[in-house]
Amino acid sequence: MPPTDTRTATTARPTRGFAFDLDGTVYLGDALLPGALELIGALAERGVPYVFATNNSSVPGSVYVERLTRLGLPAGREHVVTSNDAAVQHLRSAGLARPYLLAPPAVHAEYAEQGIEHEIEEPDCVLLAFDTTLDYEKIRTAAHLIRAGVPYLATHPDPVCPTPRGGEPDVGSFMAMFETATGLRPTVLGKPHGGMARLVTERLGLPADGVAFVGDRLETDIRMARDHGFLGVLTLTGVTSREQLASSDLSPDLVVDGLVELLAHLPAAPARAGAAG
Ligand SMILES: [Mg+2]
Repeated sequence: MPPTDTRTATTARPTRGFAFDLDGTVYLGDALLPGALELIGALAERGVPYVFATNNSSVPGSVYVERLTRLGLPAGREHVVTSNDAAVQHLRSAGLARPYLLAPPAVHAEYAEQGIEHEIEEPDCVLLAFDTTLDYEKIRTAAHLIRAGVPYLATHPDPVCPTPRGGEPDVGSFMAMFETATGLRPTVLGKPHGGMARLVTERLGLPADGVAFVGDRLETDIRMARDHGFLGVLTLTGVTSREQLASSDLSPDLVVDGLVELLAHLPAAPARAGAAG
């Protein structure tokens, strides 16, 4: 086990690519966090592959591309991996295509583009995304389906989404409500689970042990790094405080106060050409 204070920890694994969480890591609300612009710009300039991997399933991937671009970060759809992407891959591999989908309209449209249509009459599963348009009719219908034994999936487990006003109820909170009502918990698809880890390594074209996974949440970002072989980098700009880190059994490989500190950890030489960065 690494020491609790990992600020001086070093690793023998060379970092050849980066994956970044978004909320609380790259930005908070509409504001970029310090160092994000410089760090991502340096990666793009040096040809170091990078992706953004977010559990936030409340908007389609294209919205992240627009948001990142507006904030001045070089990003295409190939740089964005969402828990909806992981859900699409899971549904395909499980032969499911007609979910009762709890998600906002724009996310419904993104699934429909992938051939996955919201089904009210005879759904083959319930898929719970970060539905910021959730209402009682959807809650009631989903609870009946879950209790009836329809396969129950959720895009991610985060209890709250960090915002400048504080954490706001996210899918983990919705899961708690449905568990209270039905006694059942879903199969969860985003970070820290394997489907998301596979998408990240596929997009980067790198094995997990060549990738630094940078995030602000121990239970998703750092757990995924630990469970799937990434270098786990915790940034203290989001939901995790030093006190929470000290009392957690999840030990990041590196702890930073923000992305600006990571500039010192960039690979010295340009990485191979032709990768996703
Ligand atoms: Mg985060």
